[in-house]
Amino acid sequence: MSKKIYLYGNWKMNMTAAETRKFFDEFAGCYEPFKNDSGLEVGVFSPFTSLWALAEGAKKCGVVFGAQNVYYEAKGAFTGEVSIPMLKEIGVDHVIIGHSERRHIFGESDELIAKKVKALLDAGITPVFCYGETLEERESGNTFKVMERQIKSAIAGLTPEEVAKIIYAYEPVWAIGTGKSATSEQAQEVCEWSRKLIGDPKVVILYGGSVKGSNAKELLSMKDIDGALVGGASLKPGSFLEIYSEFKK
Ligand code: PEP
Repeated sequence: MSKKIYLYGNWKMNMTAAETRKFFDEFAGCYEPFKNDSGLEVGVFSPFTSLWALAEGAKKCGVVFGAQNVYYEAKGAFTGEVSIPMLKEIGVDHVIIGHSERRHIFGESDELIAKKVKALLDAGITPVFCYGETLEERESGNTFKVMERQIKSAIAGLTPEEVAKIIYAYEPVWAIGTGKSATSEQAQEVCEWSRKLIGDPKVVILYGGSVKGSNAKELLSMKDIDGALVGGASLKPGSFLEIYSEFKK
């Protein structure tokens, strides 16, 4: 039996509400051949301001949708933050947490990320938890040490059932938005190691970092890679879905 592929698109700080509507006008047609393919789960993650438009388009097409961040408190004096109940009102059931841009540009700590993961699980929302090493960490031989800290911090104190509900995304920072993907062997090595560290052979682990049609087959065919978290190539329906078409060839 062939494995199920998760194809998740992280739009980052791109796509206004109007652009989101336009994306789904085109996506609906491109997605038609894949609609009934139970081997594929598509998800799209937009900025907060486009979430209502995203919800409308994603529901029509039957794809998963979500936000790229959230705060762990339900309400209160947290200027500029968005809470889980606010996302639930829109119907969001997946949220990206701990993306390297949140960690490295906005200084999010392992502790803060862990609180967000727990709050999402408590609310019945799936965290798409990102982790990965910088180039400096890789070159200094600290790849596994850094990721062990990131993963252990996120799952500390969770029940095995909660750990199983998280979707994990290995995203080497040096491969994000650079056009330079990890090799399939590098990505497989980390995903296999992660699965053992997490301690549940069935967890979903995605690879992210310059995934596109031309490298999709090699990466997604690896045993421990269940799918891709895609940035740049997810902004156009054609290049986004091409990743799955190439994998299936
Ligand atoms: C990402 O934003 O998570 C990502 C992997 O980006 P890109 O595909 O553009 O490298």
